[in-house]
Amino acid sequence: MSPLDDRPGEAQPPQRLVQARLAMVADQIAARGVRDARVLAAMREVPRHEFVPPAMRDQAYVDAPLPIGLGQTISQPYIVALMTELARPAATDTALEVGTGSGYQAAVLSRVVARVHSIELLEPLAASAAATLARLGYANVQVRRGDGYQGWPEQAPFDIILVTAAPEEVPPALIAQLKPGGRMVIPIGPVGSVQDLLLIEKDAAGRAARRSIIPVRFVPLVKGREG
Ligand code: SAH
Repeated sequence: MSPLDDRPGEAQPPQRLVQARLAMVADQIAARGVRDARVLAAMREVPRHEFVPPAMRDQAYVDAPLPIGLGQTISQPYIVALMTELARPAATDTALEVGTGSGYQAAVLSRVVARVHSIELLEPLAASAAATLARLGYANVQVRRGDGYQGWPEQAPFDIILVTAAPEEVPPALIAQLKPGGRMVIPIGPVGSVQDLLLIEKDAAGRAARRSIIPVRFVPLVKGREG
């Protein structure tokens, strides 16, 4: 079964939210140049309103990041779609996400690859994202609390690594855990400033090449502790 066949999500989402989601994809994402049909289908399908705090459901489809508690944010929809497209997802790929947050990016990614492993530093966010993903039926996503600077060595190597919080430099463990032919999308830059969204590709010989895509503003990838 392909990831798009099992259709997780709500059984009966409210129509106004479905309409808002279709408008989001047309006006914010396709209009800005995202073309990958599988990525657009995933963005139309995943119920973003289930990943924001209940009081923010009606704002879930606006063109902006939103607070999810503990000082963290769910990324702007366009950035989620762009990062997913830049990774050139294939249906057989294994992916790592660093910075689970609400679980929304992991859910989107899970529709276009075979398996997603996602790491979150803050235990309450890891627990609530895992619960949301399980409740909605995203069975090919695994979440654990951990320090993203270390990656997830037990599940490595990965075809795709998406980093959704910004370190100052690319963590060496993440480069090491990228397969030859793999793609990493990661914001790099100083804390509290604009960062550079990079696409890093590893060739068959294991050499990594970087390309700068656009300026972005993510929360920092916090230096954590293992445990
Ligand atoms: N991808 C998320 C948004 C991420 S916000 C979504 O779709 O909702 C960035 C997340 O990275 C926050 O939840 C933050 O707690 C987490 N984070 C920060 N430093 C981290 C680290 N060292 N390891 C893992 N996660 C980290």
